[in-house]
Amino acid sequence: MIIFRKASALSEYLLGINKKRTTIGFVPTMGALHMGHISLIHAAKSRNELVVCSIFVNPVQFNNSEDFAKYPVTTNQDIELLENAGCNVLFLPEGKEVYPPNYIDTVYDIGPLEDLLEGAHRPGHFQGVCKVVDRLLNIVDPGALYLGQKDFQQCLVIKKLLQITGRETALHIIPTKREISGLAMSSRNLRLNEVQQKKASLISEALIFIKENLHKKSLHQLQAEAKQKLEDAGFIVDYVSIANTDSLKPSIDSNDSLVALIAATLDGVRLIDNEVLNSPSKQQ
Ligand code: AMP
Repeated sequence: MIIFRKASALSEYLLGINKKRTTIGFVPTMGALHMGHISLIHAAKSRNELVVCSIFVNPVQFNNSEDFAKYPVTTNQDIELLENAGCNVLFLPEGKEVYPPNYIDTVYDIGPLEDLLEGAHRPGHFQGVCKVVDRLLNIVDPGALYLGQKDFQQCLVIKKLLQITGRETALHIIPTKREISGLAMSSRNLRLNEVQQKKASLISEALIFIKENLHKKSLHQLQAEAKQKLEDAGFIVDYVSIANTDSLKPSIDSNDSLVALIAATLDGVRLIDNEVLNSPSKQQ
């Protein structure tokens, strides 16, 4: 694996690649890699000749400076995991490579997705995500981009970003990798001890509860009960939402194409997860 720290050196290297023969699959990350990230590398590797991963903890997507300061950094271990997964190129930039002095700040018109759910609880977060992804796509110019379903709203935002910037990059969304307990793998889990991680799996249990009872109770009731279960266990719940899979607007119709999304904080660590509940095509 070749490691680049300079954006210009990486772009130059990738420009020298014959893109007709060598397709580039790109996996952007913030590091502290786990098997969820590695499943994205595997997916990219199975469909492309060259896989590029980036590790950059993007300051402009954090609305909470403490969260940014506490974000885990495990670079040596990340490099080893990427080497073992067969990643070809790692982009490991400093902040000034991603946002150089001549960087032109852009505001992205991503519509209502910006202010719903994660957007409502983390103002400015998705503008920050768009800034870094747009910049990284400019540097790497991949044929395909690999994102995790774990960040469901982020996937919709990036889909919109690709539309509004007119890029032809194909977007692949890879299913969430989970611990045996059901807990969605996340870099933030490193901030939880074993007992806390066990408790954190209640989030995925709440999602399964919603899925299994979808046609037995009203959506309103399901959301309220799932929220109560988490609060009883000591979580601070930002939202439990059953929403339309495209708009993420709250739904009241259990035959709609639905996703359940949860954001909740356990002992100071904010976790998110989601579960697609149905899709109209699968209904009889
Ligand atoms: P992050 O490092 O948290 O910014 O995540 C980088 C990419 O990995 C994003 O596209 C995430 O959605 C994806 N990802 C994070 N956790 C998981 C997981 N448990 N399973 C699959 N993909 C994941």
